Amino acid sequence: MKYDIHTHNIKAGKNSILANSTMFDDCQPFSIGVHPWELNEVQTDQIDIFSHVNDDFCLAIGEIGLDRIKGPSLTLQTDRFCQQIALSEEHKLPVIIHCVRAFEELIQLKRMLKPAQPWIVHGFEKTAYLNKLLENGFYISVGHRVLTNEKLQGILHKIPLERLFLETDESSITIEVIYDHVAQLIHLPVNQLEKQIETNIKRVFPKWKIG
Ligand SMILES: [Zn+2]
Repeated sequence: MKYDIHTHNIKAGKNSILANSTMFDDCQPFSIGVHPWELNEVQTDQIDIFSHVNDDFCLAIGEIGLDRIKGPSLTLQTDRFCQQIALSEEHKLPVIIHCVRAFEELIQLKRMLKPAQPWIVHGFEKTAYLNKLLENGFYISVGHRVLTNEKLQGILHKIPLERLFLETDESSITIEVIYDHVAQLIHLPVNQLEKQIETNIKRVFPKWKIG
């Protein structure tokens, strides 16, 4: 089975985690959180969504994060990020992270907060930070950019398989295509890649009823 740990497609289905969900129906796995771009608007709504943190299908906090290009000040973003990290620790949920030009700050925060829950950098493409992220225990989720970003293609094999996830995010490219592409690039049969990611999911997303 091919799992998608981060999508915004509301028709995603049970093998995908619907990001920043505001619809909480019966069998759609989801993650909840306030995206850094939305921080100004949703202070009150936050309370509403977080009442779903204990739902059976709430598998993670996310996407949350830091964005130097878009959204309110990095100070406000950091503050809200830390609040949501506290929720992740309290409810034992992994975190799916959006990070744009703030990797130093993100890594510093992880060193400072020493979270017990896994932190996953989603939509990874900043290859220059790969080693530093791995050294600091981050998981890496790779999406559609792997089809076009040659630098990313070139360092894929350096991501330990047990730290890898795959996602579609906002792309219309299917998760099947992303699995096939990654498998080819790291010279692994796609069924082995599927098995590995399934193992990772069982470890990192223990609430996900898979297999
Ligand atoms: Zn996203």
